[in-house]
Amino acid sequence: MRKAIVAGNWKMYKTPLEAYEFITQLNASLNNQQLGFDICLFPNYLSIPIAAHECKDTKGVYIGAQNCHSATEGAYTGETSVEMIKAAGASHVLVGHSERREYFNEGSDELLAKMKQVLTAGLTAVYCCGEKLEHRKSEQHFEVVKAQLTEVVYQLPQEQLAQVVVAYEPVWAIGTGETASPEQAQEMHLHIRKTLSEKFGELANNISILYGGSVKPGNARELFSQPDIDGGLVGGASLKADDFIPVINAMIQAQHS
Ligand code: PEP
Repeated sequence: MRKAIVAGNWKMYKTPLEAYEFITQLNASLNNQQLGFDICLFPNYLSIPIAAHECKDTKGVYIGAQNCHSATEGAYTGETSVEMIKAAGASHVLVGHSERREYFNEGSDELLAKMKQVLTAGLTAVYCCGEKLEHRKSEQHFEVVKAQLTEVVYQLPQEQLAQVVVAYEPVWAIGTGETASPEQAQEMHLHIRKTLSEKFGELANNISILYGGSVKPGNARELFSQPDIDGGLVGGASLKADDFIPVINAMIQAQHS
């Protein structure tokens, strides 16, 4: 059975103090209730230790890093290895976010090397994929996402698949206020699952596939209710606990409907 996950990507926002304040509010709201899904927050590296410390007694809440380096260690000034991330208290790492692909020119070879680092360290990799607007307009979106999966996820040993989560994030919907409709998102999630099953068979059913792209309190429930959408990777609406908590509540409602 695959896990449902509500994840928040804080990008380059929040100081460690702001991260602490957010988690204090989240903990108070969760009140240690047992949820039927995981929550994962992706703060900046500097906030990982305090975030992990504050979440350590909260059931089902995990901390992740937004990136990692593709090497184990070395003379890479300014970079951060997976072992450092793990030692700081994180259990998850985002790999291949569209902002990393776009602004830092990260391509499939580098992303595969990062995935291998994350999985070898025993952490969970959240592999992001998604087409640009031009691809959707020219009806190449299925092909583009398939290539992002075959070039990276297909190259992983199937024994490590249990540590892989896929996040489908259409680039045209990230930070734009424009969301894929639940039907568009479900159609792509089904395509992703079929693509994964062509390589990994039944194991593809155990891979959580999250939707990301302007998820907010008003649209989260309908998105999370789709059969192949196992949760969300939330950017803007994860920055304030007052927005993120309703998104968490939307998952609770989706699971009960
Ligand atoms: C993201 O950064 O992964 C994201 C989905 O952002 P937003 O929710 O703001 O579109």
